[in-house]
Amino acid sequence: MNERPTFRTERDEPPTDGGVCYVPASAPEAVVVPDERKPILLPEPPDELPGKGYRKNQIASWLYKKGAREFDEMTDLPRRLREALPAEWRISEFALVQAFPSADGSVKYLFTLHDGQRTEAVFLPYADRKTVCISSQVGCPAGCTFCATGKMGFGRNLTGPEILDQILAVAYHQGLAPREIRNVVLMGMGEPLLNYENVTWAVRRMLNKHALAMSPRRITLSTVGIPKGIRRLAADDLGVKLALSLHAPDDETRKKIIPTAHRYTIAEIMDAVRAYFDRTKRRVTIEYTMLRGVNDREEQARELARILQGLVAHVNLIPFNPWEGAPVAGSGRKKIQRFAETLEKAGLPVTVRWSRGVDVGAACGQLALKEN
Ligand code: SAH
Ligand code: SF4
Repeated sequence: MNERPTFRTERDEPPTDGGVCYVPASAPEAVVVPDERKPILLPEPPDELPGKGYRKNQIASWLYKKGAREFDEMTDLPRRLREALPAEWRISEFALVQAFPSADGSVKYLFTLHDGQRTEAVFLPYADRKTVCISSQVGCPAGCTFCATGKMGFGRNLTGPEILDQILAVAYHQGLAPREIRNVVLMGMGEPLLNYENVTWAVRRMLNKHALAMSPRRITLSTVGIPKGIRRLAADDLGVKLALSLHAPDDETRKKIIPTAHRYTIAEIMDAVRAYFDRTKRRVTIEYTMLRGVNDREEQARELARILQGLVAHVNLIPFNPWEGAPVAGSGRKKIQRFAETLEKAGLPVTVRWSRGVDVGAACGQLALKEN
């Protein structure tokens, strides 16, 4: 039996006393004990899994199809193997999972990792699909002024298993099989292209037919615009959708809100984005958070339309999601509407994306490890 003092997460009934729903379980206080075991999600499933031949398939199936979170659940494995596995392997990348349901149906998950660092993911149920928004880093080194994650600074890169396990853990706590999650967006904490190896490690398992078997069209990677990373992603040909956080039509405006704009010009970034499109033929999403008096003037909409000419793109206008101490304010509804109309008139497909989970700090750019 496993003697290690790990803190398992269990599928508890959500509390009925409203508000925060804790899903910690076996230990009352979250004392994090380092867990030196190997993540069972380590393998390129099923080849590197422990056990032989069809045993590996069985384990992969328990993890990725049935969503087992305990070795004990793997009832068709010989008892000896089931009991031996936990000495060397761990299933969960999280010492503690806490859930914060929003009034709009989305749920923020706060994960305590095995070294005590924390990260977040958001479950977003829609009528026709279930989406999970996952993180790639603890905090973010990019430091965009309008983003709460940027404000909190950089903790560390998440490992591949920590990135992937966010999907499995959310599915489990939602009472879903992992493969019922059909959409993943890398739009949580962190800049995915600054953690390239680990992010693509996780994406490969999302795509792998023995693992999550997702379609690349249903995975979106959102980046602040790191040209080298975008080109590398194109060369690696994973086929995922790309979203570019542009937020300004010119370098001067962009530099005011995005520190990495001092390193990479819009022209360089757009060249890389065009190369990405040439390779994948997938429409690129341009994200544009509407900030009052910064990037919301009509001539800026016209300039945006001009620089996007010839690119197969869709613009998402994101109303600013406020957080305490933010040095910027959001544009008003009318201003956003007018901006959208100007883009439309210029022939650009545009959607205004009202965020979900604002009340529990789960909306775009609000993830900053607050416990509400
Ligand atoms: N680091 C990546 C992905 C995470 S952020 C990136 O920047 O693209 C996901 C999206 O939310 C980005 O477009 C980001 O610019 C935007 N965002 C950040 N803070 C925001 C806020 N407070 N309100 C609205 N959108 C925000
Ligand atoms: Fe990082 Fe993206 Fe936030 Fe900028 S917007 S600080 S890149 S998470």
